[in-house]
Amino acid sequence: VPGVEDVRIAQTAEKRDRAIVAVASGKGGVGKSTVSANLAIALAKLGVRVGLVDADIYGPSQPRLLASEGEKPQAEEKQLIPIRGAGVPMLSMGHLVQPGQAIAWRGPMAANALGQMIDARWDDAEVLIVDMPPGTGDVQLSMIQKHKPAGVVIVSTPQDLALIDATRAVNLFEQAHVPMIGLVENMAGYACPHCGEISDPFGSGGAESAAGVMGMAFLARIPLSIAIRTASDAGTPPAAGTGPDAEPFMALAGRVKE
Ligand code: ADP
Repeated sequence: VPGVEDVRIAQTAEKRDRAIVAVASGKGGVGKSTVSANLAIALAKLGVRVGLVDADIYGPSQPRLLASEGEKPQAEEKQLIPIRGAGVPMLSMGHLVQPGQAIAWRGPMAANALGQMIDARWDDAEVLIVDMPPGTGDVQLSMIQKHKPAGVVIVSTPQDLALIDATRAVNLFEQAHVPMIGLVENMAGYACPHCGEISDPFGSGGAESAAGVMGMAFLARIPLSIAIRTASDAGTPPAAGTGPDAEPFMALAGRVKE
């Protein structure tokens, strides 16, 4: 049929133009979702046309982080249409199921949901930031094999690095030849809510040297900050503001944009 081939080529070309950046971690609770959300917002502030996919099917937190809980994305011709959270087009597993509903899906269903979100109508988005589930499971394999990320950002806490959880995530992506963008150290040092001084209960410089040993770029150091936690819980991501808590995320976005 004349024309069909053209359409298919156009779609492939469109897909190729959109770089997928996976944000991964060795385990949960290290701030991967917080980093993903604020990285997406900070990239948008730098003028990058960005979309955010929350593939953390076992604990989707982007709807809460970006104050879009309870919203339901529409679909047209079986293609999902992203909604907006904090000004950024986004889709989350949390939007596709009832809030609070435990997602006890088998791997293939989770991988299918990932595909639907990645192939959604992102219009002119140049970059998709994908908040991955922690660890090394089916969604990771599907991401690597099917969606071919342009790069991966690994998020780790100082303790996580010491316990080499992060190393496992790094190995998975490296074995699949996914380019490493670099390492983000989150909850690094404690920012005093009174004077702003940063102290280092776990010492400092460990993550940076670990990144060096693994041959990875060290992208940013984000302090453990009460302000970051309260802003995140309130659905007002720090990167959207102009305060000092936006700075490390803006610096991170600058590095990722390069
Ligand atoms: P993950 O996606 O790795 O499971 P989250 O991004 O959900 O982790 O973060 C886990 C918890 O830690 C959340 O309550 C979040 O607000 C908090 N958090 C993340 N990063 C920071 C930080 N730099 N300072 C303070 N709290 C943080």
